[in-house]
Amino acid sequence: MSNVLFDALTATAAERLWLETPDGRRLGYGDLYRLTAQLAQVLVEAGVRPGDRVASNVEKSPEALALYLAVVRAGGVYLPLNTAYTATELAYFLGDAAPAVFVTDPSRQGEAEGRVAAAGTGGQVLTLGVDGRSGSLLAAAEGRTPDFETVDRGPDDLAAILYTSGTTGRSKGAMLSHRNLLSNARLLKDFWRFTADDVLVHALPIYHTHGLFVASNILALAGGSMIFLPRFEAGAVLDALPRATTLMGVPTFYTRLVREARFNRETTAHLRLMISGSAPLLAQTHAEVEALTGHRVLERYGMTETNMNTSNPCEGARIAGTVGPPLPGVDLRITDPETGAVLPTGQIGMIEVRGENVFRGYWRQPEKTAAEFRADGFFITGDLGVIGEDGYVTIVGRGKDLIITGGFNVYPKEVEEAIDALPGVLESAVIGLPHPDFGEGVTAVVVAAPGAELSEKGILAALEGQLAAFKRPKRVLLVESLPRNAMGKVQKAHLREQHGGLYGP
Ligand code: AMP
Repeated sequence: MSNVLFDALTATAAERLWLETPDGRRLGYGDLYRLTAQLAQVLVEAGVRPGDRVASNVEKSPEALALYLAVVRAGGVYLPLNTAYTATELAYFLGDAAPAVFVTDPSRQGEAEGRVAAAGTGGQVLTLGVDGRSGSLLAAAEGRTPDFETVDRGPDDLAAILYTSGTTGRSKGAMLSHRNLLSNARLLKDFWRFTADDVLVHALPIYHTHGLFVASNILALAGGSMIFLPRFEAGAVLDALPRATTLMGVPTFYTRLVREARFNRETTAHLRLMISGSAPLLAQTHAEVEALTGHRVLERYGMTETNMNTSNPCEGARIAGTVGPPLPGVDLRITDPETGAVLPTGQIGMIEVRGENVFRGYWRQPEKTAAEFRADGFFITGDLGVIGEDGYVTIVGRGKDLIITGGFNVYPKEVEEAIDALPGVLESAVIGLPHPDFGEGVTAVVVAAPGAELSEKGILAALEGQLAAFKRPKRVLLVESLPRNAMGKVQKAHLREQHGGLYGP
């Protein structure tokens, strides 16, 4: 009997600490194993059969994370859903994924039952409260024996479906197999040198690949422990850092931490590694973290569909602004977005990846899956990038963010970097907006550093000697802040919509 992912992630000795919470709860690997057995029994009784989806739409808690492993143990397919989703989005996910069980907060039980009925796909609603006690799921699990015969699952069986953020069109469900998740967790554990002595500050959401798989799977595989925070809050992270060895964050974590007086050499003395990913880390933030703490943040690149693809190294150069070389076992190439021809080193093009980390396709969308894979198995990521002579990859933006102005290609990142380097600029986002003459007009949306005074004219003048005329913004819009999602990604589609009429109807 074997269940590829579950067996590997729960092989740690029962007495070792799995996680602790700020309110003093401490759960060992033995508790996790027992909890998954109890939860899996409830799931099976509720009708979950091998391959069935179990959707979870609850706030972060140790039990919510245990539910992921319980679903895998019961042979199911875990489907986490952000609690910020709207009614329309939930209706779509329920209809599309047809979960056998839908887990929601006790306060939303009635609503959820209505949604499941409206979806017409069957399935049972169970509830799980954020306090680790309330809800029908835990009530049914309580007092059960810790015996559950783990359901057999092979490497190519699905362990999870994660819907992509889907900034254009409908979200797509990325199907991730046991092999996809375990192979990536194994290689990252080794590449980042995780051991049973590691203590990770976990302040990421657990509905997304970063907090759910990268963070939790690696620590479980290494047998280390987590300080499990409900969300990112600078004060709570700073309280935890002196006892931690590692921090994984999105760039926003670091831009917020550098504003805190307590983020210094003493509070971070016990840390061995700070990792950033899910969105680009500004070179300036990288430098600020180093100046304050002496640590060079390790930046890596991945996506829901592929797990992690590249990473700066533990030993060796961590180069700001790059995401490092491809990870061992990941094939990565740069191709011409139009023709698919492989491009030489140093040329910007589409990033394509292949390896055990790459997902099995989009749930119930064979045409979309086929359109995003090459015949030789490479997945077309949609990210544009370049590989340097040193083998390090630099991402220049999403393909759909590429600006074509007067027939010229402009890569937003190049313009953003030039603007970010100007005195008084905190950050910028460069977008293409419909323009009557140029097709798209390069437009910069800029945030000033605290206390700095910026002007459109001043920024345009400063860029003159630095960028070719076609790359320079036609307009600069000064704003208080950039719109970001929970993973720290700037929402360029939102900016394009907001300012769409800038150059006329
Ligand atoms: P998600 O599927 O939500 O994890 O989003 C994946 C996307 O985030 C990638 O396709 C990239 O566009 C972006 N991304 C992830 N890591 C980085 C990084 N280190 N630098 C720049 N973009 C990144």
